[in-house]
Amino acid sequence: MGMAVDLLDTGTLSRALEEQRERLLPCVHSGFCLPACPTYNRLGDEADSPRGRLHLMRAVVDGRLSPAADAFQRHIDRCLGCRACEPTCPSGVEYGALLELARDVAARSRPPALAARTMLRVFSSRPLRSLFFFAGRVLRGTRIAALGARTLSSRGALGSARLGLAMVASTVPWPKLRTVGRERSGASSGDAAAGAPPPAGSGPGASSAGADAPSRRLRVGLLVGCVQEGLYARVNAATRRVLEANGYEVVGVRGQDCCGALHAHGGELEEARRLARVNVERFEAAGVDRVAVNAAGCGAAMKEYGTWLAGGDMAERAAAFAAGVRDVSELLAEAGPRQGAPVACAVAYDHPCHLLHAQRLEGPPLAVLAAIPGVEVRVVEGADECCGGAGIYGLTHRELGGHIGRDKLRAVMAAGGDALATPNPGCMMQIGAGLRLAGARQGVVHPVELLDESYRRAGYYASPRHGASGSGAS
Ligand code: SF4
Ligand code: SF4
Repeated sequence: MGMAVDLLDTGTLSRALEEQRERLLPCVHSGFCLPACPTYNRLGDEADSPRGRLHLMRAVVDGRLSPAADAFQRHIDRCLGCRACEPTCPSGVEYGALLELARDVAARSRPPALAARTMLRVFSSRPLRSLFFFAGRVLRGTRIAALGARTLSSRGALGSARLGLAMVASTVPWPKLRTVGRERSGASSGDAAAGAPPPAGSGPGASSAGADAPSRRLRVGLLVGCVQEGLYARVNAATRRVLEANGYEVVGVRGQDCCGALHAHGGELEEARRLARVNVERFEAAGVDRVAVNAAGCGAAMKEYGTWLAGGDMAERAAAFAAGVRDVSELLAEAGPRQGAPVACAVAYDHPCHLLHAQRLEGPPLAVLAAIPGVEVRVVEGADECCGGAGIYGLTHRELGGHIGRDKLRAVMAAGGDALATPNPGCMMQIGAGLRLAGARQGVVHPVELLDESYRRAGYYASPRHGASGSGAS
């Protein structure tokens, strides 16, 4: 009888698999996705490959396997959700969407670990989130996080605490950002590529309404995000400045909420949908043309809002919203982006999975770095593989996440350079923690922080509106 109840719960997954029947049919025959899968590569178990996980999903919807079964729970849980399998699939299986549904089914038949559920509760609640990130900033500002990362044992529960503290400590601004390369380039503020920000009406979208229509800059609302606003507010500030310097009008969007990515990945699809509905309403109310996102995981999730809310009363609005979501690098690449002044340094660049695989954006973030004269970009070997962070995977799967993370760390350190640049807070924290624990000297930056510094040196922010104090300390 338990199985009958389980099967009722699999209805949505079953429908999704049914819709993809054409794409799933050749699945057993190809296996092109296997070499791209980090868990299959490390564990060598077919059940930990994309193809194996799709078989498990099919077995559940066919009623041959209970969703509470260890096999289903374990192998679905071990998936990073990195979506490296998607671009390699000749049949176009939308693995990421199926995984979210499978996780939802798995969580309803067996609740996830308390730590994971607690984390999702925190991200659902504005007051709890504020408190959580306030505590993070205190640990960072007092250097308790850095001290704990240096002194705690790497074993057992203390090892998890040590990793968490190292992640928090790694969110400090790169100390050399303001000075790097000045001695190499001989550049000083305002001495290169100097110029005022583009005048209103000359930015992206200005001529899109036709020659006779009044020109108008594209109006952009920025997703401030949870981790971004909590620990990387400086990246949000830099994002606003570089977008405005490229001709966009950036407006505040009141009442926006968490994007829901962590909930969708953690098997709480209903909560993810609730958050999506809030965001669709708030960004609509702000009357924006585009939604800018500077966190790859959040952007990938928001581009899925049409799928999340399909069939409901907000389906059309969600699809329209999703069509307007852009990673900040896409918006900058559409605008050029405008060249800045030299920031002579070398950066190791690593692709976030949710930018490269989920959003299929390889060129735009590199175009952002290319707009900064003097930056030598070294794409990390294996940059297309997950860093092992994957939301809270690094904390919940310390052994496997640690194995994958150590391989990434080796590649980043081999690439060398002054800093690691990667446009996703989860990757910045995961790799940043690894660098810190390894005693490496490389800093960690978001690419827009470097572009922002380049614009500052070019004198683009001379107007009082942008302020003279710069990116701040958060
Ligand atoms: S997911 Fe795609 S690449 Fe992987 S086995 Fe199935 S059809 Fe082949
Ligand atoms: S999402 Fe990543 S870990 Fe999961 S099956 Fe695909 S490649 Fe493997």
